[in-house]
Amino acid sequence: MRILRIIRNYFFYCGIEKDEYNAIKKDAYVSNFEVWRILHFLMAVVFGVLYICSLHYELMKANRWLYMLAFIYSIIIIVLFFILKKDSIIAQLLIYLTMSLLFLFGCVLSLNRPDIPAVAFIAFLLITPMIMIDKPFFMAIELSAASAIFLIWAHSVKPYDVWVIDLGNVIPFTVVGIFLNVIANSLRIKEFVLTRQINIQKDTDDLTGLKNKGALTREINQFLSDNSADKGILFMMDIDRFKSINDTYGHDIGDDVIRQFGSFLAKVFTHNEIVGRFGGDEFIAFIRNDDNPDTARRTACDIITGVPGNVILANSEQKISLSIGIAIYHGREKNYSEIFKKADIALYEAKADSENRYHFCNE
Ligand code: GH3
Ligand code: MG
Repeated sequence: MRILRIIRNYFFYCGIEKDEYNAIKKDAYVSNFEVWRILHFLMAVVFGVLYICSLHYELMKANRWLYMLAFIYSIIIIVLFFILKKDSIIAQLLIYLTMSLLFLFGCVLSLNRPDIPAVAFIAFLLITPMIMIDKPFFMAIELSAASAIFLIWAHSVKPYDVWVIDLGNVIPFTVVGIFLNVIANSLRIKEFVLTRQINIQKDTDDLTGLKNKGALTREINQFLSDNSADKGILFMMDIDRFKSINDTYGHDIGDDVIRQFGSFLAKVFTHNEIVGRFGGDEFIAFIRNDDNPDTARRTACDIITGVPGNVILANSEQKISLSIGIAIYHGREKNYSEIFKKADIALYEAKADSENRYHFCNE
């Protein structure tokens, strides 16, 4: 049973867990897209040159129409690849279509010389599985179907004794192709997993698990630079008298307060907002595509009233409070620091105001 589970795992998820596989699946699609875009360029050049040669050399005349069609096909796919999204399913299906056509081309090349064993087709069986990252199960179907079609076709075209040699070659090389695909995929997929982990670590604040300063800055800047994005609300939050918490209860308790506040913010902002720790006891949240002051006010109140119950000092009656500076984005600022400055001024005003714990920036 265990061995069956391992085989299933390799054939469906490239040797990693299903959830991990689903998390990096799109990265694999993008990689396929980029590799096969270049391959289609190469195919256009090769088939274009072959077509021109076939006009001059009698030996190549028989395949002239094939070169022409393959050239036109490659150009169509290159154009489509400019339109399609890199991680789209349609792009992946087109890649499988190209692969199938390449196998047919391999069949034609091999069957043009029925008297010799099918070298060209076998070369395709070995090369193609190395340049496609997907569930190896799909490649196993692709290779098996291509081999079956080749053998049926070859049976009607080739002398029987040559066909038997082909049969003896194609079956083991199909199996080798499938295994090469399993190995290549599991190695590449593990690279994607590692890259993803490194990227997550790079963008994550150790203490809270929220985004860190670099990720916050990058994501907010990305949003602001998008011309179609003209609404947003930035909250800058800072715990009150945090230095004294550190001094009175120790750094570990201070860390715990930061951690609890991070968890609380993750519960407040659950709709794909940009939330993170900017540094020290300062946190940032950015709501995209909303510039309604009522949303800002309601959210700020929820945070301020929720903190005492959700961020608790162990063995102490002392309550934690915080101040919030709010800047509303109406599409004017084009980078993070401009809107950041406004929220920072509002935070400064909130700190100075003994009654209101949040302030809006005066535009
Ligand atoms: P205010 O009410 O004006 O915000 O005063 P404050 O005492 O909170 O002052 P401030 O926000 O400037 O202080 C932040 C302190 O947070 C300073 C630093 O010692 C402490 N700090 C920074 N990073 C960490 C951390 O990772 N863990 C802990 N425990 N403390 C930190
Ligand atoms: Mg503070």
